[in-house]
Amino acid sequence: MSKRDYYEVLGIDRQANDQQIKSAYRKLALKHHPDRNPGNHQAEEAFKEAAEAYAVLADAQKRSLYDRFGHAGVGGAAGAGAGFDPTIFADFSDIFSGLGDAFGFGDLFGGRRRRGGPQRGADLRYDLEISFDESATGAETTIQIPREEACETCKGSGAAEGTRAETCSQCRGSGQLRYQQGFLTVARPCSNCRGTGKTIAKPCQTCRGAGRIARERALTVKIPAGIATGQRLRLYGEGEHGSEGGPVGDLYVVVHVQEHSFFHREGDDLYCELTIPFHTMALGGEVGVPTLNGRQELHVPAGTQPGARFKVRGKGMPNVSGRGHGDLHVIARVAVPKKLSKEQRQIIEELARTMPEKTDGDGSEAAEKPFFERVKDIFG
Ligand SMILES: [Zn+2]
Ligand SMILES: [Zn+2]
Repeated sequence: MSKRDYYEVLGIDRQANDQQIKSAYRKLALKHHPDRNPGNHQAEEAFKEAAEAYAVLADAQKRSLYDRFGHAGVGGAAGAGAGFDPTIFADFSDIFSGLGDAFGFGDLFGGRRRRGGPQRGADLRYDLEISFDESATGAETTIQIPREEACETCKGSGAAEGTRAETCSQCRGSGQLRYQQGFLTVARPCSNCRGTGKTIAKPCQTCRGAGRIARERALTVKIPAGIATGQRLRLYGEGEHGSEGGPVGDLYVVVHVQEHSFFHREGDDLYCELTIPFHTMALGGEVGVPTLNGRQELHVPAGTQPGARFKVRGKGMPNVSGRGHGDLHVIARVAVPKKLSKEQRQIIEELARTMPEKTDGDGSEAAEKPFFERVKDIFG
């Protein structure tokens, strides 16, 4: 089967300029693109044919060879789709810029995935567990951060002293090779430079050509008082070093605060259950409440019921942004003595005789549930 004339394929005359060639090809490529003609073999062939014609006519040198010698003059370059010059595909991506999103050409031709140039270093994450007390008072702690740093010997270039990294000759620095697979042009990372676009003839001894080395760094982290689980501290410039002198990433320290056995935190407020002797609940009196900074006297009025709440202002957690303190909510629980002396028993029996038989429900069935669940029930 004889090949069609390339000008004929694109529907242009022999005097067509570059712009006309481009726009003719663009029209044909859109018309015959496989995405628009699924399963249509004729369209596939037409698409291939147009691509081949364009590959030759868009290149001044190849075009002049073709003009003089016909298909024979460019046989090697545009034959069965093998051995396409990658520079031609740079033109392809140019043609399809703006269409890429509609047809996925951008990815197909690697137009949007160009690599190389300085890149910002990666951000790092470090999970830090602290005690409840540390979160309340604030703390300073030292953490060990493994990170990749720019090699000092080669200043990150990866090349031995006195030498330089060279632009990769295979991919001409783009880090990608494009090749024809059937009617598709596929980009894949250049194996010669492993996608970096650079080759190093004599690698730096210290980093073995990587330009980066893994280091463990000790960092002092200041934890502000009032920090809560899930909050993170950003340490500027403590992430990984960028490539080729790109900016350094940041380190995010994500804080996890251990639960406290007595206090439960909700926002900046604290909740606790306080067991109060039943005679104090009945008669009223003073009890000591543990707070973050020592015990505090709490007045319990006579006739206090189990589950009653008392608010101790300003005895909650410090606000992490420095806006004062939350409150401490104390929930009254009644302490019933397990063992009674003979005398105590007599007194209570005497008391019982004076009490009416019917008692009010005191919601004690709620006491079956663990405290942290009940906090939600009580306070929403
Ligand atoms: Zn090095
Ligand atoms: Zn390469």
